[in-house]
Parts: sequence; C-alpha cells; structure tokens
Amino acid sequence: MSGCNHDCSSCSSKCDQAPQKENTHKLSRVQRVIAVMSGKGGVGKSAVTGMLTVAMRKKGYTCAVLDADITGASIPKMFGVKGGVTGDGTGIFAAKTSSDIRIMSSNLLLENETDPVVWRGPIIAGMVKQFWTDVIWGDVDYMFVDCPPGTGDVPLTVFQSIKVDGIVVVTTPQELVSMIVEKAVKMANLMHIPVLGLVENMSYVVCPDCGKKMHLFGSGKTEKIAKKFGLPLLAEIPYDSKIVEASDGGKLDKLDVDYADAAVDILESGLPVNKRK
Ligand code: ADP
Repeated sequence: MSGCNHDCSSCSSKCDQAPQKENTHKLSRVQRVIAVMSGKGGVGKSAVTGMLTVAMRKKGYTCAVLDADITGASIPKMFGVKGGVTGDGTGIFAAKTSSDIRIMSSNLLLENETDPVVWRGPIIAGMVKQFWTDVIWGDVDYMFVDCPPGTGDVPLTVFQSIKVDGIVVVTTPQELVSMIVEKAVKMANLMHIPVLGLVENMSYVVCPDCGKKMHLFGSGKTEKIAKKFGLPLLAEIPYDSKIVEASDGGKLDKLDVDYADAAVDILESGLPVNKRK
C-alpha cells in the first residue's frame, strides 16, 4: 500500500496487514458490542453508556460495560462498585453491579480509585485489549464499550481489536456539535463500523413549575446533523438532577427514568441477539 509505514497502531486503513480482531477469553460469549463515543469530554458519555446499559438490562438482557476510558474511568463509581476483582489463573472475573451488569475498568484494578493512571498510549491500549481478551465476562447479550473522548489511540484500538457491531455517538447541543459529530462519524466510516445513531445529552431542562422544556443551547442542531448523515437521533436526554444524583452517588442501577428506553429499542431491533433464558 502506498505511504505505508508498517505502524498499524497509528493507521485506520483496512489492508492485508491490518491487525486481526482479537478473541475473547474462552469463558466469555459476547453476542453484541456497541461502542459509545463522544467528540469531547464532559458531554455525559459515561452516564449515557450507563443509562443505555441499565435500560437494556431492564429488558431482560445480560449486559456488560467495558470501560475503555482508562485514564478517566468513571463506570465503577457510577454503579457503586469498588475494587477487589478476582481471577482463576486464566483471566479475571468481571465485577457485577447490584442488577448483575458485568463491568471491568482500570479503577477496579487500582489500590485507590483516586490514584491517577499515568501511562503512555501503548500501555493504555494494551489494557483495553486485555479487558476484551483476558476478562471472564461469561454469557453477555449486549456489551457497551465506554470509549475515551475523541478519535485517538484508544478508540482506534477498540475498533481494531474488538468485534464492535456498531457505534453510538453522544453529543451536547452546543454549536461545535456538527464538527465534532462529523469527525466521529468519519472515523467510524474509516473503520467500516456502522454508526447506529446519535444521542443528544443535556438537550433541555424541564421547568419545575410549569413543566415547559427549555432548550438552553437552542434546539435542532443534533437532529440536523443526524439527517445530514442519514442517522437516527436515538434520544434527547434532558439535564436532570436525578441523573447527577444517581451517577455521582453510585446508584445508576436504581435510576428510574425512561430517557434511554426508545434508544435501546432501536439498538435491539438493529442488533438482535438470541435472548438467553
Ligand atoms: P463524560 O463521560 O462525557 O466525560 P460523564 O458521563 O462523566 O461525562 O458526565 C459528567 C457529569 O455530568 C457527571 O457528573 C454526570 O453525572 C453528569 N451528567 C451527565 N449527563 C447528565 C444529564 N443528562 N443530566 C444531569 N447531569 C448529567
């Protein structure tokens, strides 16, 4: 291939030399993998990943979250899961939340959850790969992968080494949305992985007195970009203090809202699985 420098770790081309997708641990059977991306940090990507997983779990599916946001891991905290994972010599067992969602995250392997992960890119990418290959996930219908923000090294590793079936892009309604979403969508296209749809988070707030929806940053931007790329707008999630309380308080399993329900209906019909009894 012209221009090839034989460094696949920094290349997204699909050629004969491209790395093969990795297999999972022999005790893991994961049917569908959905990666959740965002163009920038702080848009609520991890909270949305958690809400999608909880909504899918409520439908009776076995669900898991692979926290690929190694340096900004927040999934265990959101689900109130602390460290102490165990292994059997061939791999380590995924931790379980109170509603039996399996999770693996760098934070579960640190002595203190506040210890910083100060590693270079290849080590971080290696850990993400190991979460896929060496963690004993068991039978999982839907696995959600919480990618770090942006289109860098780790999302590239996720798409190259994990059998990702589709991508959900999370955004907020500010002006930069179109550029950021476009970058994520173009990356997905480069990697030949379908984008399943967009989620607009913190879309609006509901007035506690009159119930009126207030779109503080304007409305319609994400819908416009979704139309431009022919993608579904999976959900418009309001800014809701119940979400902060549940996710910051480690009770995401217990969050009783329906904001992600329609989104998981679409994901379920686009990526059907053999539901296990
Ligand atoms: P990211 O993963 O994009 O960096 P997080 O999911 O960690 O962002 O969310 C950042 C903060 O915003 C968290 O405290 C989370 O609880 C809060 N948050 C996310 N989405 C919402 C929402 N729709 N309403 C209220 N708070 C939210």
